[in-house]
Amino acid sequence: MRIVIATTNPGKLRELKEIAQGKSSVEFVLAPEGFNVEETGTTFIENAVIKAKAAAEATGLMAVADDSGIEVEALDGRPGIHSARYCEGSDRDRRVKLLDEVKNVPAGNRGAAFVCAMAVCVPTGQTVFTTLNRWEGELGFSERGENGFGYDPIFVLPQLGKTSAEISPEEKNRMSHRGQAFEQVLKFLQRAHSET
Ligand code: IMP
Repeated sequence: MRIVIATTNPGKLRELKEIAQGKSSVEFVLAPEGFNVEETGTTFIENAVIKAKAAAEATGLMAVADDSGIEVEALDGRPGIHSARYCEGSDRDRRVKLLDEVKNVPAGNRGAAFVCAMAVCVPTGQTVFTTLNRWEGELGFSERGENGFGYDPIFVLPQLGKTSAEISPEEKNRMSHRGQAFEQVLKFLQRAHSET
């Protein structure tokens, strides 16, 4: 079974393939060059569905899409679905802006969660599965760690006393919002495959 991942980002495909390794015989492929969809949804699920539907219709394949971001309690859930576009510039600029927004929020009130929605659409564009997964943590006060991307260096896992940029990619895949969401997708695909 070939399934298109609704992204043109090879890094994202590699990460998902690593999670699937040994658990699924599905062949995952990138969306065609130039694939780009406007994320006009108001929730993570809506945006994942928009991307999966577009990728399925563009390729005639079954498609999986994700939409993710970080929700900060002290900011009533912002930046949420706007995490990637929170401000102009680099990932580092966005981390600096976020830490600045919560600079007066004390330890204990700095709860945050990475959120990941995934959707699966069949080639006709119909949605057949969605899942939403949260990875709870806290915002740190400064950056720590070199791994990961985006908000990882400021996302602290209190049980480990580390940021998600200080754990290995394997550890992150096991625990993360995206790892958990993709596990759900793989289970769904397995069930769907065994029923056909
Ligand atoms: P998406 O590509 O539209 O899903 O945008 C997700 C954005 O949320 C990314 O650009 C990051 O800023 C942030 N984000 C989502 N997942 C993670 C993660 O695992 N680590 C760090 N930042 C993340």
